[in-house]
Amino acid sequence: MIRIATAGFQHESNVFSAVPATLAQFERAGILRGAAIRAEYEASRSSLAGFWAVEREDPGVHIEPLVFSRLTPMGAITPEALEYLFERILDALRAGGPWDGVLLPLHGAAVGQACHDADGELIKRVRALVGPQVPIGVALDMHANVSPRMVMNADITTVYQTNPHIDAFEQAQACARLLVRQIRGEVRPCSALATPPLVVNILCQGTQDEPMATLLRRADEHRRRPGVLTLSVVEGYPYADVAEMGMSFIAITDGQPALAREIADDLAATAWSLREALNQGGTPMDEALRRALAAPRGPVVLFDVGDNVGGGSPGDSTHLLHRAREFGARSVLQSLCDAQAVRECVAAGVGARMEFAVGGKSDDRHGRPLPVRAQVLALSDGRYEDPGPTHGGFRHFDDGPSAALRTDEGWTLVLTSRGGGTQSLQQFRHLGVEPTDHHILIAKGVHSPRPTVEPVAAQMIWVATPGVTSADLGTFDYAHRRRPMYPLEPGAVWG
Ligand SMILES: [Zn+2]
Repeated sequence: MIRIATAGFQHESNVFSAVPATLAQFERAGILRGAAIRAEYEASRSSLAGFWAVEREDPGVHIEPLVFSRLTPMGAITPEALEYLFERILDALRAGGPWDGVLLPLHGAAVGQACHDADGELIKRVRALVGPQVPIGVALDMHANVSPRMVMNADITTVYQTNPHIDAFEQAQACARLLVRQIRGEVRPCSALATPPLVVNILCQGTQDEPMATLLRRADEHRRRPGVLTLSVVEGYPYADVAEMGMSFIAITDGQPALAREIADDLAATAWSLREALNQGGTPMDEALRRALAAPRGPVVLFDVGDNVGGGSPGDSTHLLHRAREFGARSVLQSLCDAQAVRECVAAGVGARMEFAVGGKSDDRHGRPLPVRAQVLALSDGRYEDPGPTHGGFRHFDDGPSAALRTDEGWTLVLTSRGGGTQSLQQFRHLGVEPTDHHILIAKGVHSPRPTVEPVAAQMIWVATPGVTSADLGTFDYAHRRRPMYPLEPGAVWG
């Protein structure tokens, strides 16, 4: 029996967020162990589930879950939290070993306040623990900022190749399959990493759209070449101020380092030639609202790019709501994180009339609180389930205590206690609110809402709103990234 351990944590750290990722935050999100990890993830379409698929298809393989935690994107991770996670993971690996292999379901854009390459540091420590002979497989998110340390210390690295992320399961399954083949001595993976000094604007990261589609087709051509084991186009995460921030390419071949190098470099050069097209901005707020109001039917989905909860923002931005009010919009639906307002709704009860200001309370980047007169339509514990396609393949959601409000101007606002983003329309439906009854649906996110909203959207518009996930990277002060990088230094030359 081949015994493989799996352990890790997933965090996409937005260093511009005012909310640090503390140990208390991870504990609230859950630091799961053993059977609890299976219970939470085995029925999902996430990376962990992809690993276990290999256990089911191959009776000679056992994949043992040890420790796992997944925290919603927010600020950088405190030293206390990061060391705690590292220690729990390494202790569990040590206690249960020796292992034939290790599978790490990571994100790739985790940043510690003190240790910038948090994922790379974990992989390095796992390597030091298990030694050079035990294969390590790493499954990453497509927003990973990949460092040489990550790739050097792993044998196999796979990355989602879709954004929105609907292939987490398949990529992790491929990672586990390759790891098993390596353990059996059937393949000798060798990796090459290319990191052009290139940022991809969050709005140009949709993998079905150009120019990403062209780049992925090019990768597909390389994938068909003999000797290629796996190949990853990695979009990177621009809100992490670290040396490895940016786009990257990982090619893994069966014992052919020159081929791996050639392919990674070719993809990097192709991306560099597309750099202008990979950096287009969003629609200005006023234009987006004009187009939405002129649309013959709804719902018109307005993506609130500056308040992209999946990218680490607070989920309480009111910029679009204030503007929509000035435009006289009559039918608007949006979720808004405001734990204090939820508590007031819970105290008042369903049917109560409220007169208060909601949202815009987390910091000064996401708009002023919005004064409303409204009725409480429904209350819930904020837990809902979505078996349909969702970003990252997740199924269980928990926004904390939530309230649905109908404002006097006819809008529906769903108040949550945690910034849940709009990853599932169940966020509204579990409160009895039907999104398709609204002309304008404001979605907190850029790519993550797409799998759930696209089937019902009459039109989708990505709006250039301010916030910690603004598509305009010129609004951020970077201290640690490489220089020059395109498009932050438009004249950057490379190659
Ligand atoms: Zn991602």
